[in-house]
Amino acid sequence: MQRATRITTIMLSALLLTGSLIGCRTRSFLSTKQEIELGQQGMQQVEQQYRVETATPDAERVREIGDRLLKYIHKRPIPYSFHVIDSNQINAFSLPGGPVFVCRGLMDMIGNDNDALACVIGHELGHINARHVARTISSDILNSTLIAVLFPNPNAQAGASIVNDVLGLHYSRQEEYEADWRGLSYAHAAGYNPEGMVRFFSKLERLSKLQGSAGPAWLQDHPLTKDRIARAEWIIEHHDYRYGNQ
Ligand SMILES: [Zn+2]
Repeated sequence: MQRATRITTIMLSALLLTGSLIGCRTRSFLSTKQEIELGQQGMQQVEQQYRVETATPDAERVREIGDRLLKYIHKRPIPYSFHVIDSNQINAFSLPGGPVFVCRGLMDMIGNDNDALACVIGHELGHINARHVARTISSDILNSTLIAVLFPNPNAQAGASIVNDVLGLHYSRQEEYEADWRGLSYAHAAGYNPEGMVRFFSKLERLSKLQGSAGPAWLQDHPLTKDRIARAEWIIEHHDYRYGNQ
């Protein structure tokens, strides 16, 4: 693994150098094509780890809401897809390049509140559209597993846990605010009530009090600060849905 890391680091340095030589000024290190590749590999791993619901009413519902959001927002040229996975975690996550996953546990918690579900899916679309993983990887370039996915070595086992790595990257608080803002904007643009986000946050708060320190998985990936709730309320109050059509 160490050897692989050294080799990929050298390759990465060469690529960074190439990027700077050609005057690459994009804020994101990964190209869209690399993001898509990473997402597709991650998708395969999710399918190996979890049963992906395909024909259930909730799978259909998540696809419908996701597709409706996409109709009303600025889309990137990537293969978006929306899935329900058989995990009892109260969580949702996305991979770079398009795939969004909602866990069965979160579906059960949200019940029939489509506005809340649209905000949650919108939040994940926000991470994808703002290219948060691509940027996080840029600043975490020595993560050997992720690099090995980008520069595959047929003899290496690397790449086996991209999903865990992406989940383990942890977005910054600023990125979470942005994903919330995008989620609220997308939901509003598509005709859902953004108040669903606040209802979802309130449910999470109640649950975390009941469950103690660990709380729902969503909170470990997306810490719910008072500030985050206040910001969502401010956006709704001021009707500042700035990301809706961008
Ligand atoms: Zn998030």
